[in-house]
Amino acid sequence: MSLVQKDLQYIWHPCSQMKDYETLPPIVIDRGEGVYLYGEDGKEYIDIVSSWWCNLLGHCNPRINEGIKAQLGRLEHVIFANFTHEGAIRLCEQLAEILPAGLTKFNFSDNGSAAVECSLKMAFQYQNQTGHPEKTRFMCLSEGYHGETLGALSVGTLDLYARLYRPMLMDTVRIQAPDCFRCPCGKCRDTCACECFSHAERAFERYAAETCAIIVEPLLQGSAGMRIYPPLYLKKLRGLCDRYGVLLIADEIATGFGRTGKMFACDHAGISPDILCMSKGLTGGYLPMAITVTTDEIYRAFYADYSEGKAFMHSHTYSGNPLGCAAALAVQEIFRSEPILENAAGRAEYLTRKLNKALKDHPNVGEIRHIGLIHAVELVRDKNTKAGFDPGLRVGYQIYQKALKRGLLLRPLGNVLYFNPPLIITEEQIDCAVERCAAAMDDIVSSKSFRTGRI
Ligand SMILES: *Cc1c(COP(=O)(O)O)cnc(C)c1O
Repeated sequence: MSLVQKDLQYIWHPCSQMKDYETLPPIVIDRGEGVYLYGEDGKEYIDIVSSWWCNLLGHCNPRINEGIKAQLGRLEHVIFANFTHEGAIRLCEQLAEILPAGLTKFNFSDNGSAAVECSLKMAFQYQNQTGHPEKTRFMCLSEGYHGETLGALSVGTLDLYARLYRPMLMDTVRIQAPDCFRCPCGKCRDTCACECFSHAERAFERYAAETCAIIVEPLLQGSAGMRIYPPLYLKKLRGLCDRYGVLLIADEIATGFGRTGKMFACDHAGISPDILCMSKGLTGGYLPMAITVTTDEIYRAFYADYSEGKAFMHSHTYSGNPLGCAAALAVQEIFRSEPILENAAGRAEYLTRKLNKALKDHPNVGEIRHIGLIHAVELVRDKNTKAGFDPGLRVGYQIYQKALKRGLLLRPLGNVLYFNPPLIITEEQIDCAVERCAAAMDDIVSSKSFRTGRI
């Protein structure tokens, strides 16, 4: 039996209709190097989505490999309650230096959803222990994504992941998110005054008294299709939270570690959240690790004699895993010794130019938007009305298949194609990726059968 056949016999892949695998079987990857993945047949793929947005500095990065290997010879794991180790301590010390001001207390877990769950419980308990037991609800933005466990789904608003499970979820207050491509106020994201913020103001007036926290993806609603909104929105939200005593949770799981051009997306707005979640890029995309970091003020609300029952009774077996910490430390050392962000800024400009040149005038390209190296191409049926394609056509999925054939791992979100490459991508690699993307698009969107709606 081939590896692929055995895979299909045993494995239930994430976020997949397994029946699709009848026509597009899983691709067996043998090795990776930099932005490239190589199949067992030797075929090359440019990993333009950083393997679900986590690979930060290239596959098999020699410095991260070395960091993990050294740690492996010393200690692979240790219980993290009442025990600790040097790697975790040094990591927190380094992260505290680059995080938005005031974030000083680190709670470890092992995936993004877990970090979000932790932030929700922390916010709830903080309010409870500081005289606000009535603040029990959460606010979130429409089109938001925070992971797929039940708490995270409750504050997520994408029906694709949450609809079926609604009866199992918390009742949250949803605020209509900015929609800069199809702005209902008729403004433009570079020059507007965030007129759409009135939705948040109205929600706070009505619900803030019963709300412990609001969670947002700062500046970039990733899973919704790389929707980008202005820093001013975040700044205003910080003000509103302060006014009403609502905690601000920044889910920087996708945006952290330079993805948006600054170390954290909150830095664009010059604000500090009360709680920040990080994962994905934290270990360079090597190992499952996440951190929920908060302020001294919140930490102090849990600090009391044991008998008062104020401790945060939240744990994950692999909290603070030393191998994860070693990978994360290696990432921090690379940021400190190499001009990663500066180089990525140059590549981001280059990618913007290249994508615009290749695709801007395409009749089905509605918008090309970007923040940092993250670029999104939103496909539309009609450029003037911005009307989208019928999701049933699965335009993105079809382009995905063509792109794979051409050696590009492009995983569209609905009708949005996006690039979110490792920060170390070169200009030549960008040229090649844009070329493969444009060709894959042409394979589908300019085909005659497509225009007539029959695929
Ligand atoms: C990926 C992601 C999560 C969930 O992280 P997992 O590790 O997949 O559980 C949460 N929030 C955001 C913004 C993400 O991009």
